[in-house]
Amino acid sequence: MEAKGRKECQAKGVCPQCGSVGMQWKYGINESGTQRYKCKDCGRTYTPAPRAHEYDEGTKKTALRMLVSGMSGRKIGLLLGMCKNNAYKWAEEEAKKRREECAFDESIHKTE
Ligand SMILES: [Zn+2]
Repeated sequence: MEAKGRKECQAKGVCPQCGSVGMQWKYGINESGTQRYKCKDCGRTYTPAPRAHEYDEGTKKTALRMLVSGMSGRKIGLLLGMCKNNAYKWAEEEAKKRREECAFDESIHKTE
């Protein structure tokens, strides 16, 4: 079974749709220059997870703390050695999540 896939450009990857491994093929490049892939099992085309996911939770939390303390995304990026857009994006996402949690808590108190 393995021999037939060799000629084509088989990529390493996991399909985000069906979780298939080993049937992922390169499928052109998108506008931002990222490699696209196609799953031969379910036919889904996708771009692999962006690089931001390579950073761990601890780094994200540090980025969030820095943002909350008034630091700019650029400074956070410099200090953590990451792209400023990544740093800012995470911090924003985390802050949004927390705001939603707070709003949820408040709505519980209001119904009392
Ligand atoms: Zn698939």
